[in-house]
Amino acid sequence: MTEKKEIDVSKVMGMLRDQLQLPEKAYFFDTTLRDGEQTPGISFTHEEKLSIARTLDDLGIDVIEAGFPVISEGDFKACRDISNLGLESEIIGLARMKKLDIDKVIEADMDSIHVFIATSELHMKEKLKMTPDEVIDSIAKHVTYAKDHFDKILFSAEDATRSDLNFLIKANKTAVQHGATRVNIPDTVGTISPNAFGHIIKKNYEALPKDVRIAVHCHNDFGLAVANTIAGFENGASEAQTTIMGLGERAGNASFEETAMSLYALYQLPMNINTKLIFPTAKLVESYCGGKIRIGRLQPLIGQNAFAHESGIHAHAMIANARAYEPITPELIGIKRTDSVEEIVKKSIKLGKHSGGHALKAKLEDFGLDPSDEQFNKIMDDIKRFGDKGHEVSEEDFLAIVKDVMGELPQEEKYVIIDELTVLTGSVVTPTSTVRLKIRNNGDFISKTASSVGVGPVDASVKAIVKCFEPMSKVKLLSYNIDAVTGGSDALGNVTIEVMDLDSNIIVSSSATHEDIVMSSVLSLVEGLNKITKQKNQ
Ligand code: MN
Repeated sequence: MTEKKEIDVSKVMGMLRDQLQLPEKAYFFDTTLRDGEQTPGISFTHEEKLSIARTLDDLGIDVIEAGFPVISEGDFKACRDISNLGLESEIIGLARMKKLDIDKVIEADMDSIHVFIATSELHMKEKLKMTPDEVIDSIAKHVTYAKDHFDKILFSAEDATRSDLNFLIKANKTAVQHGATRVNIPDTVGTISPNAFGHIIKKNYEALPKDVRIAVHCHNDFGLAVANTIAGFENGASEAQTTIMGLGERAGNASFEETAMSLYALYQLPMNINTKLIFPTAKLVESYCGGKIRIGRLQPLIGQNAFAHESGIHAHAMIANARAYEPITPELIGIKRTDSVEEIVKKSIKLGKHSGGHALKAKLEDFGLDPSDEQFNKIMDDIKRFGDKGHEVSEEDFLAIVKDVMGELPQEEKYVIIDELTVLTGSVVTPTSTVRLKIRNNGDFISKTASSVGVGPVDASVKAIVKCFEPMSKVKLLSYNIDAVTGGSDALGNVTIEVMDLDSNIIVSSSATHEDIVMSSVLSLVEGLNKITKQKNQ
């Protein structure tokens, strides 16, 4: 029997627990819309900002930093409109220690305010041109002013980790004495190690009243943002300031996905997060990044490889118990493949030159194929030879090899078929596409027709198909990639897409190859719709 355990981590974690100052609960402060939007090259539209805020609310984020309202009219409107969405999450706005900044947060009708001022010698001297005493006076004055308008005030000492520790504590205490209810300690420039950051948090935790929630905000300049955040939690912090996908200034902030799942899986800290929405949320935010920032293939938890296995030895053990080479189930974070562990393992095993017979057997069974021993060995040899040439064995390559050896292919049930496609394009017409889909509805196929214009023939066709499918389900194209398989203008175009079903949050990827890129785009999208419908009908 396969054990259905969702998480299996080091036992030492539990042994160390008593020595740590872990909080009773972990809170999440999301700054995707503020620090995340400061990612070079990234700018969200107003509608995207509202959509992100609603998604973060569904995810269970405690505090959403909607923006910095004084910065621009756009930021102001986003802050105001997100505040008026009636979300359960607390909506907070950022302000410098300036009356004008604070007034803008008041005007945007926000739940709470996040005020900040730098406390490092470098920032005070070079940026603020203020003495340490003037900084303390400014904190006292502006927190007092903010207190007249807000019950909840968060104070951040910018560049805290490069500040004199005693001065940092003095600044935090001043803020609390004048009405700040929470204190955030940022590693603004990502210049500290987990041990040293833990020390700073511990000293502040000891010096501040126990009802003051301590947040941490870490940057990833040395790849330590998540590690530093966790160190903060081990020393008295209870709120993590994170961003989806780790977006943010320079190398980014601590990623929400990694921080939340570390605290959840390694320390089992209670939290308000619906972990099953972690992956769909990251994919949605990725789609709003317009291809400028993508989830990396090796990215922990949400990357394409995070739950993929190639080695035969691993695959064999995984079929016996998936926790053998995976710390958590992919479903725990909303990677929906199928319900049974065996199925997940089969589908996630990547065939390659390191795969063994078990992985191949599982894969063949998955397609309902039962080759003879001789055929099986031939398929295995061909896959290894293919892998040795440096190729990854895709589903299509696998099926092509099987067809070569066995002369047959399983008939896959189709839910959506492309029946007709007409595309009009040229230099004097607006690209227009008309499609007719046959969609299975309780055993019968019904026809749906739709037309759309677009910036080009591919765009028009994709929009027409999405429109055609709308009565069944609303879907969103998350990513689109095209590669020429061979050179020349008659080259085969391979299109790989990711589509998300907005009702169920199911995300699928599919690809198709054709000489005509409009056709490869259309075929891959229809294939994606087939996959979604299949999963929803399971
Ligand atoms: Mn920051």
